[in-house]
Amino acid sequence: MNIGFIGLGNMGGPMASNLARAGHTVTGFDSADVAVEGVTMAASAKAAAEGAEVVITMLPNGDILRSVAAELVPAMAKGATLVDCSTVDVNSARSVAQDCTEAGLQWVDAPVSGGIGGAAGGTLTFMAGGSTAAFAAAEPLFDIMGQKAVHCGDAGAGQAAKICNNMILGITMIGTCEAFALADKLGLDRQKMFDVVSTSSGYSWSMNAYCPAPGVGPQSPADNDYTPGFASELMLKDLRLSQQAADSVDADTPMGALAQALYALFVEEEGGAGKDFSAMLPRFVNSSRHDR
Ligand code: NAD
Repeated sequence: MNIGFIGLGNMGGPMASNLARAGHTVTGFDSADVAVEGVTMAASAKAAAEGAEVVITMLPNGDILRSVAAELVPAMAKGATLVDCSTVDVNSARSVAQDCTEAGLQWVDAPVSGGIGGAAGGTLTFMAGGSTAAFAAAEPLFDIMGQKAVHCGDAGAGQAAKICNNMILGITMIGTCEAFALADKLGLDRQKMFDVVSTSSGYSWSMNAYCPAPGVGPQSPADNDYTPGFASELMLKDLRLSQQAADSVDADTPMGALAQALYALFVEEEGGAGKDFSAMLPRFVNSSRHDR
């Protein structure tokens, strides 16, 4: 297949490389000067899209997606499919989807879970929104770049699934970290806390698979001085997207709002930028009830 790939950063680079390694012809473009194994670089997004059956975007946010899509959509061949794997707001996804439909193109929003390791290893999970035909066109590529793809519904449904998942993740990580900090102050050993909670009703992915306490549970960024992993500022981005979405449909999400406020404080005022999102644990250990 001829594939255009726009946005070859931490995630897009290895994803595009995996497609090339599987035998596809991948033409890429990034506004930064990057080189990716197996990918032929084009001079513009438009040039990378011309003649492609599928164009994939992996960009920082919805505004950038909209501006890149304005260049891509007129350049793409009728019947081709635009697959956006970035995490963006639901409204941007739906707006670009509408532009694609009007131009005779197919659209899939397909944000991912699995991070940089999943992108490199081809083990991402894709959550997809778009028509059945559009999903079918993209599915063989999801199979190369990932281990699972769920067709969640019409355009925007993939982004909706992503921000709901990450809202739960942010809330449970905070809950897990504040519980560890409470346990510390109560004199409860962290390993004992893990042994109980990981097999009791307080268990979660944050506790069991990504334990924020160093030396406890499986290997996680906590064991590497909280080097990401999944950076706190990316969690803040996703929590903001979830609150923006909640505002737009009048959904009552008080825990999501509090998680957003705590990650904003951590990233913007407490030096949490560049640290894994599980670094909320030392943050809670070092704070007190009187700080607020
Ligand atoms: P990144 O910043 O490493 O990569 C983005 C790339 O887009 C950069 O190389 C940048 O130069 C390029 N770019 C920006 N504007 C452009 C333009 N106008 N035209 C062409 N290229 C342009 O970010 P990333 O970590 O690869 O994340 C990409 C997306 O994936 C984001 O939406 C992020 O939220 C999402 N995501 C990231 C992770 C993660 O762990 N890094 C996990 C899941 C989802």
